[in-house]
Amino acid sequence: MENILNFTRDDLGIWLEDNGIRPFRAGQIFKWIYIRQTDTFEQMTDLSKDLRQKLEDHFYISRLILDEKQVSADTTEKFLLRLSDGQHIESVLIPEKDHFTLCVSSQVGCAQNCRFCLTAKGGFVRNLSISEIIAQVRDARYYLIQKDLDPLKLSNIVFMGMGEPLANYENLIKALKIILDSDYGLKFAPRHVTVSTSGLVPKITQLGLETDVNLAVSLNATTDEMRSNLMPINKKYSLKQLLKACQTFAIKPRNKITFEYILMKGVNDTKADALRLVKLLAPIKAKVNLIPFNEYDNSEFKRPPKNEISDFLQILLDHNFTAITRKSKGDDILAACGQLKAKLY
Ligand code: SAH
Repeated sequence: MENILNFTRDDLGIWLEDNGIRPFRAGQIFKWIYIRQTDTFEQMTDLSKDLRQKLEDHFYISRLILDEKQVSADTTEKFLLRLSDGQHIESVLIPEKDHFTLCVSSQVGCAQNCRFCLTAKGGFVRNLSISEIIAQVRDARYYLIQKDLDPLKLSNIVFMGMGEPLANYENLIKALKIILDSDYGLKFAPRHVTVSTSGLVPKITQLGLETDVNLAVSLNATTDEMRSNLMPINKKYSLKQLLKACQTFAIKPRNKITFEYILMKGVNDTKADALRLVKLLAPIKAKVNLIPFNEYDNSEFKRPPKNEISDFLQILLDHNFTAITRKSKGDDILAACGQLKAKLY
């Protein structure tokens, strides 16, 4: 038996053809699964009984098991999701003014070992399958339906949950195909989907060639010395290599690349840092998201005081950058950036 959520519409078409069925049926099946949120083949009444039986004999449709849900004071919701092998991941549903954003995980744990990130502390367990990535999105839409909300209000996805999406590249690309499938799939607009990376340079280039989605880069430092100290990936791909790949990625008609910069007290928050950041990003179509460090139990780093955060921001604005301080939604339930750590995995 195979999980049908592992199949892009093209891949399902190939399977159908191999089994003597016209491939366009894949579109009908996709509509049932992703738009009507159907859980059994029996219900797919515009398919012949024979085809429904064939599908049932070969495939299953799965949901993730919601083991725990936490709701933040700002109404951000964090889901602890159980996978079929008993591992856990988290995804976060973030309410915005007129829509929702879902923060999606790409791996169980993470191998990047960034010093400031709670997810790193548990180490790496495994990549998520295509179906496990897709189910986070499909289930979140289903969750909105159950709350009598319009499922299409979930219009934005950020791959900023647990894991390094570009280290699970093949599955990410296939999952994106389903997420962006505009006729029959999940129908997200490419400009509403953002993949965030710690800086896997060759994969950044590949992503730029293969997709239209937005890129976010977790920069966090302005010198190789500091970045290598905070993020081991920098020892493999230097700042220069990273920024060069970003420059190519950002050529027209693409949007700006988002650079995430965690502000950590006494580490990377000085005026000199801000000025170096300005210089580094000058050749790139960039916007900067400053993330005041989110603390957790025993965290090594601290958040700088408010006035220092706004001084840092002001320097970027004075140099005509698009820059914001990202509000850390859900920080009271450890749902904010870098605080995800499925407790049981
Ligand atoms: N591995 C990818 C996807 C995870 S995104 C990446 O690194 O981009 C998670 C974001 O949260 C990253 O931008 C990371 O730099 C940031 N982050 C990690 N720990 C944090 C913390 N304690 N406080 C604030 N931001 C944090």
